Amino acid sequence: MLCPKCQAANPRGSKFCQNCQSILLAIPGDFLEDPQTVPLTGRLESVKDVCEMVKKGEITLDEFSAFLSSVSNLLAVKAEEITELVESSNYASQAPQEVEAGFKGMDLYEAGLTNMILFISTGDPAVLDEGLKMIAQGNEFINQAMELNQKASRNLQWDIML
Ligand SMILES: [Zn+2]
Repeated sequence: MLCPKCQAANPRGSKFCQNCQSILLAIPGDFLEDPQTVPLTGRLESVKDVCEMVKKGEITLDEFSAFLSSVSNLLAVKAEEITELVESSNYASQAPQEVEAGFKGMDLYEAGLTNMILFISTGDPAVLDEGLKMIAQGNEFINQAMELNQKASRNLQWDIML
């Protein structure tokens, strides 16, 4: 099934796009042989939705774990890119507030995902809420970094999961 958002091909019956992590909701259609897929835009929204799904038992712990690792891999790649860029330039001294906010945001994302992974071993829904809270805070810092970036007409790409 093709992801309607990024057009990546995914195995039939996939719940998430392996490329962009959009949720692929299968809609049974009388006139369609293949299930139609509908993307939910925004990775943060996807994370929220997936947390709800695992709480309600609509996806398995394995699926939840696969989703979290794909998001956290993406985050790691993005963080490495940004770190390299910042370290190989004088960006941090030019834009200390932007860099601080951006890295704080990425740390919070990572901490949030780490919390959510605990759900797999503990089954405690509180770790999901705590994780979401951290990711939402992370989003605020990333937004701050992006605003500072735009004001200064620079083009470092902080948009990890927005
Ligand atoms: Zn996709």
